[in-house]
Amino acid sequence: MHVFLRRLTALLMMLFAYTATCSHAQESKPKFHVLAFYSETVEHDHVDFAHQAIEFFSKAAQRDHFEFATTTNWDDLTAANLANYQLVVWLDDFPHTTQQRTAFEQYMEHGGGWLGFHIAAYNDAGTRWPWFVRFLGGGVFYGNNWPPLPAMLTVDDRHHPVTHNLPQSFSAPANEWYIWRPSPRENKDVKVLVTLSPSNYPIGMKDVLRGGDVPVVWTNTHYRMLYVNMGHGNKIFTSDIQNRLMEDAMLWVGAGRER
Ligand code: ZN
Repeated sequence: MHVFLRRLTALLMMLFAYTATCSHAQESKPKFHVLAFYSETVEHDHVDFAHQAIEFFSKAAQRDHFEFATTTNWDDLTAANLANYQLVVWLDDFPHTTQQRTAFEQYMEHGGGWLGFHIAAYNDAGTRWPWFVRFLGGGVFYGNNWPPLPAMLTVDDRHHPVTHNLPQSFSAPANEWYIWRPSPRENKDVKVLVTLSPSNYPIGMKDVLRGGDVPVVWTNTHYRMLYVNMGHGNKIFTSDIQNRLMEDAMLWVGAGRER
């Protein structure tokens, strides 16, 4: 009798484990797959951001049921590999070889998703990647404030999925804010979502932004892409309001619906 009971108990436990695995597998099927690229050998403050971003988005992935993978190998930018992901993130660097860049262009031209932070959009005369400048909306890096400072930001459109949880304006933690020439806003295909408030001017000490249009978060509506200028130093994730923006940015590009 005892043997029978033990066997019955074992059978029931197996059944329970099987059922639990099945329902768990269904619940945890990721909504989308993200591959985040970063470099350990770039400016220290940018690496700090990348590490904190990985921690933040890894937790968000659990909350929001998406898969978040990371790599420091930019040669992972290949057509075969990118086919596994709905969203590519650049945390603190950008591709430097022709093969990597070409794979990324093809991916984006065929409906891939991109979320870039801070230095990811950096380009100047030495970058020699005209496709990428068009992809961003035409802006070339023109300058920044130094040292990194907090700033008031204005939300341009609070109805957009990326910004709908934000107040009309908010104080963003210390960042190195980039200015672009021309301003991406001058491109009719660009939708600016967040802007550096003019009330910040002049901002900086060693390097000072004295005025001008400084879009901070925008999308080129021709692509499934979003650029977010935050990404310098270890203060970026210290604001609940801005963290909401970061998480909603990931969810919007990842979901890939409305542009
Ligand atoms: Zn920086």
